[in-house]
This record gives sequence, structure tokens and C-alpha cells, in this order.
Amino acid sequence: MSAYTPGEQPQGGGWVKLNTNENPYPPSLRALEAIRVALLNDGAALRLYPSPDSAPLREAAARFHDFKAERIVAGNGSDDILNLLIRAYAGPGRPIGMLDPSYSLYPVLAAAQGAPVVKVPVTPALSFDVAAVAGCGAAVFFLTNPNAPLGVAFPVAQVEALARAFPGLLVVDEAYAAFAEGDCVELAKRLPNVVVTRTLSKGHALAGLRAGYALCPSGVAEVLHRVRDSYNVDRLAQVAAAAALDDGEWLRVTSGQVRATRDRLTRELIGLGWSVIPSSGNFLLAAPASLRRPTSPAAAEQAFEFLRARKILVRRFPHHPLTEKSLRISVGTEAEAEVFLAAAKAWTEG
Ligand SMILES: *Cc1c(COP(=O)(O)O)cnc(C)c1O
Repeated sequence: MSAYTPGEQPQGGGWVKLNTNENPYPPSLRALEAIRVALLNDGAALRLYPSPDSAPLREAAARFHDFKAERIVAGNGSDDILNLLIRAYAGPGRPIGMLDPSYSLYPVLAAAQGAPVVKVPVTPALSFDVAAVAGCGAAVFFLTNPNAPLGVAFPVAQVEALARAFPGLLVVDEAYAAFAEGDCVELAKRLPNVVVTRTLSKGHALAGLRAGYALCPSGVAEVLHRVRDSYNVDRLAQVAAAAALDDGEWLRVTSGQVRATRDRLTRELIGLGWSVIPSSGNFLLAAPASLRRPTSPAAAEQAFEFLRARKILVRRFPHHPLTEKSLRISVGTEAEAEVFLAAAKAWTEG
């Protein structure tokens, strides 16, 4: 098996880092305060194991989504949750399914369990065929929604139609839900085979902390609790994530700013002649083009290197026809967007 290839994390300063979809804003002050409180008395609380079932985090997630805390399972990032789902529901003879392209971690986790991977292509219209997914033969299907790296969001009604037609467990990976118009939480409340996974890494600017959770049908929550590590989320992550979830105002303001910058980047790149997919995430998939260089994998590679030489880091996905001509650009601050746009303009005019 091969390891997951994460985006580059450059050491040393000076980079405009738009390659791993981190949030450009500092996290909620309430999250920082919760960590400070947990460290009082010379950190005496760190001597003790944390809540084994992440009670503070699960209760905050329950308030945030109006969902039953008993049916929420917390993880060391949502990657931990994805791994638990595969350990519990997939294996040899029990394939996982995913859209192609989508999140490249699922096959890595499946390989460790000896589970085959069924990839269902995203259609040319950037959607999916409900019957094709429903009939793909997977025991558990991972639907990244909004899709990464494409950025498109699939409508709830389409996801519900899929859930009703699919005989296995449907996991809706909502890592980017904070930047989208809707979500599928309602489906996890009502349907027996829908799990929604969430992370604090993107919308809540806590990627360094590692916290995520799953909203599950009751039988599924019980199974995941059986396979997880007994203390899978550390004490600081539990309290900080809970405080972050309780700070609705922080989320409203920062996600609004990210969306505004994203939509401005979209307009300006289209103005330069680039092909941009309208995004529901905190990133854009955009194919660079200029008069001399129409969109192509080579043009994308050349623009990537042009940006890199100016210490602007974006990401390439060269192995799929829907992404090979494009750059994936994380939405940064307004200032980072200015730097990126100036370089994009220089490339286009160069
Ligand atoms: C970032 C990301 C995750 C991982 O989130 P963590 O909580 O940081 O592990 C999961 N799924 C998708 C699609 C992502 O982009």
C-alpha cells in the first residue's frame, strides 16, 4: 500500500500558502481561552486522561446541529472518523465506494483494511448518476459534499435520492460545509443509513488541533464507539473544539469573509480568461489560460511553477481529466488574494 500524499507544508516564512485549504483566519478566541483554562494550576488537568467519549465536544456538536449527543462520535480529526468507518464497515469482500475525483485519503484507509475501492466517475456536468452510485456494490460509500477538489456541492434532494436507493452505508463527508449553502445533517437525523462527518479543521480554523466528529444513525454510533481508541481525542482538543462550536458569531463572520473573497477571486480570474468552477468550499479549481496558452495540463504546470517561484503555493491534481488543467487555490485572506491575483495577472499577460 502507499501513504496519503498531503499538500506541502513549507518550513520557513514568506510563503503565501494556498495549497491545503486551511482557514486563513485565527480561530475563535473562545477556543484559545478554553485551552488556557484547561492549563491552569500548572497544567494539573493534563495529568488525567480526558473524557473517553469526548463528552464536551459531543455535547457542543449536539447543540450546534440540534442532534442527539448519543448519536455523535468524536475523532482525532475527521480523518480518524473516516478510518473508523472503514475499519467497521469495509474489508476484503466489502468494498468502499467514492466519486472520482474526490478525497484521495479514502483509498489509503481502505488499503490498510484490504478493502477494494470502487470509483464512480463524476459526470461531465460535474454531478453524479444516482443509479450508478446506488448500484456500485460498495458496502460504504463516501460522498464528499461539497466535492473536493472540484468545489461543487450536490443538492440535498439528490443525496437523499441516493441514500434511499443505496443498500449500504452512505457517508457524506462535509469537511467544507461551513462555506456551502446547505448540508445533509437533516438526512443523518432521519435516515438509517446516512452518516455525516464534520471537521473543525476548515470552517473553524483548528487544523492544528485535530478534532472532528460523525453524526450517525444510532446503530452506527454504537459500532464506531466499539472500534475507536478509548481516548481518541485529547483533553485540549475536546474543550477547544467545544468552545469553537459554541461561538456561532465567529463562524458567521469568518465564513462570510471567506465566501466573499472566494467569489471575488472567481470573478477576477474569469475576467482574466481563466476557467473557474463556481465553488461551495474555501478553495477554487481554476484552469489558467492566456492568449498564448489555452488551458492544458502543461499550462497548469507552468502557472504552478510561476507562482511557486514567487513563493505562492497552490496545489495540482494532474492525474484526472477533470482536474489536470487546473490549479486548486485555497481562499486566503484578502491580502493573500491580492498577492495571488497580481501573480495570476502577470502569468496571464506574460
Ligand atoms: C480536510 C478534509 C478532511 C480532513 O479533516 P481533518 O479533520 O483535518 O482530518 C476530510 N475530508 C475532506 C474532504 C477534507 O478536505
